[in-house]
Amino acid sequence: MTPPVRPTVSLRTCARRAITALLGTVALFAANPAEAQKARNVILFLGDAGGLPTLNAAGILAHDRPQSLFIHTMPHMALSDTSSLNRWVTDSGAGMTAIMTGQKTNNAMVSVVPTADGSGTDPVKTVLEYAEQRGLSTGVITNKAIWDATPAATYAHVAARSGRDDIFHQLLAPRFGDGVDILVGKGRKDAETSFAKLGQSPAAAFARAGYLYGDDPTALSADVRRSAILRDQDFLPTPTVEAAISSLRRNRKGYFLMVEWDMHTDDPEAGLRHAVEMDDMIRRVSAIAGKDTLILFVADHSFGLRLRGGLRATPLSQQYAAAQKPAAGPHPLIDIDDTHTGEEVVAVASGPGSEKLHGFVPNTQLFDVMMQAYGWTPDR
Ligand SMILES: [Zn+2]
Repeated sequence: MTPPVRPTVSLRTCARRAITALLGTVALFAANPAEAQKARNVILFLGDAGGLPTLNAAGILAHDRPQSLFIHTMPHMALSDTSSLNRWVTDSGAGMTAIMTGQKTNNAMVSVVPTADGSGTDPVKTVLEYAEQRGLSTGVITNKAIWDATPAATYAHVAARSGRDDIFHQLLAPRFGDGVDILVGKGRKDAETSFAKLGQSPAAAFARAGYLYGDDPTALSADVRRSAILRDQDFLPTPTVEAAISSLRRNRKGYFLMVEWDMHTDDPEAGLRHAVEMDDMIRRVSAIAGKDTLILFVADHSFGLRLRGGLRATPLSQQYAAAQKPAAGPHPLIDIDDTHTGEEVVAVASGPGSEKLHGFVPNTQLFDVMMQAYGWTPDR
């Protein structure tokens, strides 16, 4: 009797071979985890002056619970030194230069370092410029002036942060790629003043460079590849960042986005609201950005704000509203000494490459974390 044909055997063999092949592929990835975990996109959230004391007070004022912010749930963290090349307490120019270029510089300098003989400065390439050079899309969003030191350190190189005209000039004369693709910030009148000195209008200059120029962030969409939104009023952070991402993510090579939200304040409630706004932004962006995105939050320096009191049984905001600042001495609940301070700031991250962030680190290491996440080697 002829035995029945047993196709299941050959199917089993096929399946076994397929599984073996699959395991081989998995093993390849496991042997080279860096390949498997590269970031296509990096989003840097820069809390300007958003040190631990500010985050602590903001979270409790908003939610009446400790460690209640979204950033408190992010999986990887480090404490970053913020000292500059020449000062223990940095300004935003030197602080952001370290993060964007991996080089410490003197206070007030923007993505340049002093030459060895001290007679001048040399530009240092920024993460945004590496991204432009490689054909990625790039964006800069800030609730400060677009030419202010922190956003400027992503795309410009000046020896003095006060060099507004030069910063605007460099914005439209990029060293790599076609320059920042999505720009949203304040300083519309500043732009008019700076471009007028060249006999130009910012509207014409940005249009010539291929930008949709306007003052309304709701004009941003997936259909607008290059846009410069300059205004002098506040704007809604989360919808603006979401719209920017919808445009940037259309580039298959990926994108780099820097979002700065200023937390300096002489009014605790206003400053702490900005901290909560940024936290809400990061929560939302973490939900939509995709697994191939490194999300990094860090401050450029800390700030002299302290939570000094308060009962747990009553909302802190009610207690703050009821409390009077004494004529002399600190406020009993939330006191502000309106100055930068020198202690380490927290850096938190999620996504590919975020596991590199741990321990006490110099602020220059944040540059390394972003570059390694992309899988890029710095030129130098
Ligand atoms: Zn700053």
